[in-house]
Amino acid sequence: MTTDAHVDPGTEARRRTEADPLSRYAREYATDVIHLNGNSLGPPRASLTGELDRVVSGQWARKHVRAWFEDGWLDLPRTIGDKLSPLLGAHPGQVVVAGETTSTTLFNALVAACRLRPDRALLLVEAGAFPTDLYIADSVARLLDRELLISQGFDDDLRERGPEVAAALTAPVDFRTGERRDIAATTAACHAAGAISVWDLSHAAGVLPLDLAAARVDLAIGCGYKYLGGGPGAPAFLYVPDRLQSLVDFPLTGWHGHARPFEMGPTFDPATGIDRGRTGTPPLLSLIALDHALDPLLDVGIHELRRRSLDLGEYFLECLAYRRPELLRGLASPRDPERRGGHLALRVPDAEAVESALLERGVLVDARPPDLVRIAFAPLYVTHEQVWRATGALSDSVEGLR
Ligand SMILES: *Cc1c(COP(=O)(O)O)cnc(C)c1O
Repeated sequence: MTTDAHVDPGTEARRRTEADPLSRYAREYATDVIHLNGNSLGPPRASLTGELDRVVSGQWARKHVRAWFEDGWLDLPRTIGDKLSPLLGAHPGQVVVAGETTSTTLFNALVAACRLRPDRALLLVEAGAFPTDLYIADSVARLLDRELLISQGFDDDLRERGPEVAAALTAPVDFRTGERRDIAATTAACHAAGAISVWDLSHAAGVLPLDLAAARVDLAIGCGYKYLGGGPGAPAFLYVPDRLQSLVDFPLTGWHGHARPFEMGPTFDPATGIDRGRTGTPPLLSLIALDHALDPLLDVGIHELRRRSLDLGEYFLECLAYRRPELLRGLASPRDPERRGGHLALRVPDAEAVESALLERGVLVDARPPDLVRIAFAPLYVTHEQVWRATGALSDSVEGLR
């Protein structure tokens, strides 16, 4: 360890835990494992059941359909969007949580992006994109009669074929390796080519500071259940900057995206502003859970969240170097922490075997077969002591599988 050689590493882990003011948040979360899987599904806050009971018993059971109007339910897609904005570097009125999955939200955004460039043939997506992004992009290209380019070298393809590109879909964090892509630079390259930039923020939101407005991003979407902690199947968010809000033509034209939904007229007249991104009646209880999950993240602020996540990740590598340095040869993520998102990936001989051996030891990680184990450093429910113990469990697991 780089710290004082005379200090016992377990004591040092405890010292670091006590020294970081964010460690106190760990008590708020209900999890009986060392939870290093926050890039997949974050754990609930212990207070969530009380919050849901407040809404179910106090609002739904008592006011019934009136609660949509009297308890702010109808506005929640936008109020949660505004609440999320500081985490995304967006301004109020630019983010909505319509109640859709990440996949449907991406579909909505990609079609709208292509419709903004009707005269261009290409839809560009990175080959390493999350599978659903590839599938949705493929469907959008077929639907709109465009050509899909699944790019092995995104920056080169954008440079060479830029004038043909209608929309380019990228992510600020590679879901496998955690490697970052610079939002401002990539968006600027898209704009230089005249293309619409679409971002999938699923692996970044809530752990990495984003600067959507400053970077002049065109459209962005992301998951609610990963680092944001909104719960299983939490709805996704959609970002549209002011300058595009009156121009985007979404394919999902549900009545909640109408300018006057309760007139119930026969033709669709899109709402002005971010409400245009809404679709139908949203899953209210899931919105409540997402709203509740955001409070501690906003309390702490995205820069502090990032600081701690980086610190935990670096400490993990330090502990691993102490316990079993040969495992570091399998690091599949950039060694420079600034070039990583909230997780890192290690190559091991059998990822699924390591995942289950770790779970037997109380440590939750995520296997990407055949050989990748992903380890996420969500800042509010992972502590330095847990990281120290997790590296011990990892070392034992690998030893046990030999
Ligand atoms: C997790 C994730 C998704 C998931 O899509 P769902 O519709 O929520 O299942 C999509 N894209 C990326 C980049 C993801 O990381």
